[in-house]
Amino acid sequence: MSAHPSPALDAVVVGSGPNGLAAAVTLARAGLRIQVLESQDTIGGGARTLDLGLADGIVHDLCSAVHPLALASPFFEAFDLGARGVDLIAPEASYAQPLDDEPAAIAWHDADRTAEGLGADGPTWRATLGTLARHQDLVAELALGDKRSIPRALLTTPHTLAIAPLFGALVGLQGSPAWDLPLRTERARALLGGVAAHAIGRIPSLGLAATSALLGTIAHGAGWPIPVGGSQSIIDALTADLRAHGGEIVTGHRVRTWRDVPPARAVLLDTTAGAAADILANRLPRSLESALRGFGHGDAAAKVDFVLSGPVPWRDAEVGRAGTQHLGGTRAQMAAAEAEVAAGRLPDHPVTLVSDPSVADPSRRGGELRPLWSYAHVPAGDPSDPTELVTRQIERFAPEFRDVIVSSRGISAADMAHHNPALVGGDITMGGVTMASMIARPTPRWDPYRLGATSWYLCSAATPPGPGVHGMNGWHAARRVLRHEFGLRGTPDLSPGS
Ligand SMILES: Cc1cc2nc3c(=O)[nH]c(=O)nc-3n(C[C@H](O)[C@H](O)[C@H](O)COP(=O)(O)OP(=O)(O)OC[C@H]3O[C@@H](n4cnc5c(N)ncnc54)[C@H](O)[C@@H]3O)c2cc1C
Repeated sequence: MSAHPSPALDAVVVGSGPNGLAAAVTLARAGLRIQVLESQDTIGGGARTLDLGLADGIVHDLCSAVHPLALASPFFEAFDLGARGVDLIAPEASYAQPLDDEPAAIAWHDADRTAEGLGADGPTWRATLGTLARHQDLVAELALGDKRSIPRALLTTPHTLAIAPLFGALVGLQGSPAWDLPLRTERARALLGGVAAHAIGRIPSLGLAATSALLGTIAHGAGWPIPVGGSQSIIDALTADLRAHGGEIVTGHRVRTWRDVPPARAVLLDTTAGAAADILANRLPRSLESALRGFGHGDAAAKVDFVLSGPVPWRDAEVGRAGTQHLGGTRAQMAAAEAEVAAGRLPDHPVTLVSDPSVADPSRRGGELRPLWSYAHVPAGDPSDPTELVTRQIERFAPEFRDVIVSSRGISAADMAHHNPALVGGDITMGGVTMASMIARPTPRWDPYRLGATSWYLCSAATPPGPGVHGMNGWHAARRVLRHEFGLRGTPDLSPGS
């Protein structure tokens, strides 16, 4: 299939999402000739920022908007986003959990300030998430590794050995029916529960508890930053580096079968597992092909982009100081809403995420106007326009919200794949988030990236370590390609000067 006597290309990457570009940059840095094929007319997959025509001069993040994982990612650390002019600004509060009948719970960037606001649970919060935040690099290596190697930090700094059990204990308790044990107040439970529900799925569960432990750690470490100018600035930095090292990107090229890919020694797919099975239909061992198809999809998101004439008038003004709001009320209410979604029913009060990027980046405003990014958790493939549902959920905590809406655009879960074929039925996680799938996605093999004995690889969020804009899936896959297909060991230098 890709075997060609002397292909003009060393490797083709199908898809220009953050993972496709991370893989492409890593390979190009090793001196390989790389082409990226992208189905859409715009580059960047889940990290694009576009003018949606809702108001002059206001741009919107189509998918991702807030980037704790980019700041914590070993790939982006090596790539050095800051030195390339990508300004990631962490707001003074990472996330907020407004509540119906009491003051909001706020996760300030500062762990001590957060603990002070959590009453009886303050000491526990400080001892767990505050401690983990001081060892964020190790936590990020544990959570964002390929789940097949021992984190380097554990080997080089043995005194941090106590951190892995602390992380494990937090995950174990928050992911089990015993999740009430460590936290006594509804406010602290709701605050951490909001981060767990963030990743979409039934709570409590180990997979979402691991996500909340990671994101909760970064909230008090690097923070939950917003890139100046929008998520596209991350993509622009990757694209510039790829082109500077000879790589090219072809847009408007949807790959449906292996025949749509030019000859190359290796091919990396930044696609869903199911799309990989379709592209390589009848070319993989039958058991692998059916396992890829069986990997399936998680519950969905339906997106609403607003243009507002001013800040969201939150009933509790402190909520507006955070870069992200989790709307869903108490942890029990969020658990009930997520259970409804998992059962295929649209909840009246879905868990909804909101971000006003101009809280951290005033350049996103145009005069009095500003964008507001939001999405609600809904059943997979739900066809309804979420605009009214999301508006009502924001009004629950900001009763005057409707007065500041200038314009909006809602996209149903069913329609999410129109702007990215990887968002099947509105699944923004490429296969859901469970503990088993975080380790063995999309199939339980030692090398989850390589597709059988072929020179084709999966490099998307459908592989470990799972979803998010961290580039780690692409980086892990590319390093395997270098080793297996080109006999190159070690990791290319990704730093800007090299
Ligand atoms: C609404 C929404 C909000 C999100 N919010 C956040 C957030 O705030 N922070 C965060 O870290 N993460 C967030 N995410 C998740 C994040 O965007 C993804 O996990 C991440 O983009 C995955 O990167 P990827 O490269 O694996 O896939 P993608 O970013 O999905 O990129 C895949 C690319 O491949 C292309 N493609 C797919 N199939 C083909 C094909 N057959 N032929 C050619 N091209 C193809 C697609 O068009 C796309 O460009 C969000 C996602 C969504 C949808």
